[in-house]
Amino acid sequence: MCGIVACSSAGADVSQLVSSALQKLEYRGYDSYGFGYLLAGAAGSSLASLRRLDPLTDMQDLLPATPVAIGHTRWATHGAVVLENCHPHQSPDGTFTLVHNGIVENYQLLAQQAGIDASELLHSDTAVLTHRFSQLLQQTGDRRTALQTLLGLIEGRNTIVVLFEDGEILGFRDGSPLVIGRSPGHVYMASDVLAFGDWSDQSFAMENHQIISIQGETVRLYDDRGALLVPDWQTVDARLTSESPDPGGYHMLQEIMVQWETIPRQAQTDPDALARFISHLHSETTVIVTGAGGAYYAARQICWMLRELAGIRAIEIPAYEIGVARQLVRPGDVLLAISQSGETADTLDAIEAARSWGMTVACLVNMPLCSMSRLADHVFYNRCGPEICVLSTKSATAQIAFGYLLAQSYRGTAITGSMDLLSRELTRYLSDPTHDRIRRLAASLVKAEHLYILGAHENYGAALISALNIKEASYLHAEAFAAGELKHGVIALIEEETPVLVFVPGGDTWMLAVAAEVRARGARVIGLADDDNELFDDWLPLPATGGQRELGAIANIIPCQLLAFELAVQRGLNPDKPRNLAKSVTVR
Ligand code: GLU
Repeated sequence: MCGIVACSSAGADVSQLVSSALQKLEYRGYDSYGFGYLLAGAAGSSLASLRRLDPLTDMQDLLPATPVAIGHTRWATHGAVVLENCHPHQSPDGTFTLVHNGIVENYQLLAQQAGIDASELLHSDTAVLTHRFSQLLQQTGDRRTALQTLLGLIEGRNTIVVLFEDGEILGFRDGSPLVIGRSPGHVYMASDVLAFGDWSDQSFAMENHQIISIQGETVRLYDDRGALLVPDWQTVDARLTSESPDPGGYHMLQEIMVQWETIPRQAQTDPDALARFISHLHSETTVIVTGAGGAYYAARQICWMLRELAGIRAIEIPAYEIGVARQLVRPGDVLLAISQSGETADTLDAIEAARSWGMTVACLVNMPLCSMSRLADHVFYNRCGPEICVLSTKSATAQIAFGYLLAQSYRGTAITGSMDLLSRELTRYLSDPTHDRIRRLAASLVKAEHLYILGAHENYGAALISALNIKEASYLHAEAFAAGELKHGVIALIEEETPVLVFVPGGDTWMLAVAAEVRARGARVIGLADDDNELFDDWLPLPATGGQRELGAIANIIPCQLLAFELAVQRGLNPDKPRNLAKSVTVR
């Protein structure tokens, strides 16, 4: 949450670079945005800032020419969404300006110790941080010492970037991500490599407790004791960062429509890396698959694949409940962590717990140089390109497809043929007639208050993902239930005309009975099925999978992705930026 950028040059104008880098991070939070920069004047340079509550995409006031600037897009944790709480926060004496990603969990105590009235600072943890840093600077007279001291005082996962009046930028990370990049004449800092991926030749990710100093083009990296380090510059795989969104359109629609091409990319996963991971999976090994939000639901689908196809003892546990695994696992068991950003705070905590229990850790992420990729023993990628819409669509199908790849590889079965088939079928499915049908269905549901989705087995997982997508994008109350729960209580919710989506793969007779039961109570039944049936009031075709149930476990979420998109647009909402959400949940 919150996106941070910084750009420094030896004299060139960085205003355009830093503005467009920040726009690329808008998905991390969009409550407000701001910049701090050096402004050249007759009497030398001074610090200036620009802070706005407007959407970043409509940025009107361009930054003036400046050789060094920092920027921030906010997802408020502490303090209301008001201009005063926008970042950057300027020091009381005007000598520095600061941006922050994270939560200072003990900010009230910090304020008390420093004799600051936190309520006067509008309950903003960042404002307290700024005041305390200013005091420490005056006390110690040294920037890095003051920053190091401050960091010893604060609790939580935090990353801080400070721009000083002489143009030096200091950055510190502890939990929240911070990545450094460079190109001839420029140095960049950002919360992820997407921000500067188009310009930077080389990058590296900072480790926790390191401090970086950038002045002009000069980069100095220090460890927590102040010793100089040599940065590990790497060339980042451009294929993971170079996809651009549909110009003028919604990212969500573009990201749904490319899945015919992104899902099969799992077949290109390095077979040696896969084999090394699979060597840990024995008949006695317990594999815990974890994640939060949509990634947890993907973890469910992955476990279904591992159990059903490969007979692996796989159990899904939400990252924020990982404690329940403690009594189940033994050293040598495996944790597979799922996270698009690779920065999800709950999942990072789960990895730390798994490590302390002696587990082998693998991760499946989408973002190069993310924290999880540096913590895990085995790193795998979604391979689906940057996902900008806050909702997980092509990432979700890529994650489930990885489960399919893993299960099949464990059995020694290649997936290329199945992926080719799915790709062909999805090319056919993701077309105008499907979109038109879903557009019409959405129009008939646009005023609905509740919508229920019933599924069994792998389609219960699909129902959970679908309900989450509809809630996130359209704010319509959509709830998934396991079909088996229906008669144990859920059926009481059904009234005349209540819309109920029912997954009926392959004409499953039990699911047809479920459809009949809700229909008998007056529900409007929308069948998610291969073929129409007289029990359905509406029929939403599932993508064809040549009868392969496991491909359905990947593709059956696609119709409701489109439905979520259409419901959002028809309700006048921007599905790329749902209220109160941000894509990368880096705080607990
Ligand atoms: N806690 C800070 C604020 O509310 C930063 C938020 C974040 O990084 O998500 O402004």
